[in-house]
Amino acid sequence: MSSYQADIVIVGGGIAGLWTLARLRGLGYQAILLEAETLGCQQTGASQGIIHGGTKYALTGKLTHSAQSIQKMPQRWKDCLNGQGEIDLSAAKKLSDHQYLWSNKNIASRLTGFFASKVMSSRMKHLSAKDFSAPFSHPDFAGDLYQLDEPVLDIQSVIESIRQQFEAFIFQYQVTDIQPWVDGYKIETNTQDISIRAQKLILTAGSGNEKLLNSLNFQQPQMQRRPLYMPILKAKSSYLPMLYAHCLGASALPKMTITSYPLATDEIVWYLGGEIAEKGVSRSLDEQIKAAKQELKKLMPWMDFSHCQWSALAIDRAEPKMLDASRPIEPAVFKENNVITAWPVKLAMTPIMVDKIIAHLEAMSDESDDSRENTIVNNLPPAQTTKVRTTRLPWQKVEHWL
Ligand SMILES: Cc1cc2nc3c(=O)[nH]c(=O)nc-3n(C[C@H](O)[C@H](O)[C@H](O)COP(=O)(O)OP(=O)(O)OC[C@H]3O[C@@H](n4cnc5c(N)ncnc54)[C@H](O)[C@@H]3O)c2cc1C
Repeated sequence: MSSYQADIVIVGGGIAGLWTLARLRGLGYQAILLEAETLGCQQTGASQGIIHGGTKYALTGKLTHSAQSIQKMPQRWKDCLNGQGEIDLSAAKKLSDHQYLWSNKNIASRLTGFFASKVMSSRMKHLSAKDFSAPFSHPDFAGDLYQLDEPVLDIQSVIESIRQQFEAFIFQYQVTDIQPWVDGYKIETNTQDISIRAQKLILTAGSGNEKLLNSLNFQQPQMQRRPLYMPILKAKSSYLPMLYAHCLGASALPKMTITSYPLATDEIVWYLGGEIAEKGVSRSLDEQIKAAKQELKKLMPWMDFSHCQWSALAIDRAEPKMLDASRPIEPAVFKENNVITAWPVKLAMTPIMVDKIIAHLEAMSDESDDSRENTIVNNLPPAQTTKVRTTRLPWQKVEHWL
């Protein structure tokens, strides 16, 4: 068996691992990343690509702590997209500069005062009918429409742009076991004849963190999964307009969050999150499609969805365990010995998560040799490592549309 060594090994190539790799490499750390399948193949590729600024979380009528911590995220991501941020995402594509928030009259009147408040009016603009575009420009739309200054990204292009810059440090291995070794860790992979040794480990494997923590015999941190069942529909662009919008219901959770994606076939995909995806987890595929059709018909009765083809994606959100199984409000980063475990909780909050990882690494460097100065050559064998590809998106993986 050949063994190879690296200073810092990051396990998992979703947005958490990729952003961490890009920042650490930028700061001079000798980090490499191991990914089991394709980059972004789990939560990141399945996400709706919305870079929230917290408005969605403020919908209960008051600004919560989570809404405040996420407020600066759109600007941090925009700086990266402009090539002037902490990592370079200038090759990534923005799908939209803003999203809409719409509601029927009853809900809107309840929240009008709140939306007009100083703290919220800087985040959103109330649109008048002359500014409505499809599907809201229809005479039958009777609700209120707000424009939120929160971008939506083509997440595949985000992953691909990081992959291209750092592919020399990204390797295709599934980590199957981790054991303490001298002053670091021995990492076993699905490739029997290779073992990798690392001084420091960063676990950003999403739901895969659970098994890795078990193999290390760590009791903490613990993880929770919150499942979603995301309906997907597509039709020619003459039937479905491009749309990025939250429909507001009576609760803090949007009734439906619609994001869309253009296909080369002149078709548009709508990808549905929010309440429909949370409540749909106990439904069969047929039941979930039926529920999505009914809900869309209720929300947009003037639209014709009869030309659409349908599917749905079941996916778990992986997060730190909350005592009441509720949604965590901040990215979670834990350190035990030389192992850092992290979940961003939201794509948008990844920059904050990586700030916390770097703070831990700096503290660890103060205690021991700095992995930036005491460089061990990353002598992983390039010939044996196939290049890790970027994931396809959920609708690109659908085999049978219904
Ligand atoms: C349907 C959905 C929609 C969402 N929409 C949004 C949104 O619009 N905006 C937002 O801010 N957030 C959104 N989120 C949340 C966001 O997607 C996640 O918080 C974020 O993508 C988590 O990234 P991650 O890198 O931690 O995990 P993942 O993306 O799950 O990545 C983990 C990676 O680790 C790899 N891995 C696992 N085990 C191993 C192993 N043993 N060895 C090697 N590799 C391993 C996996 O293959 C995977 O590539 C959404 C989540 C879901 C599920």
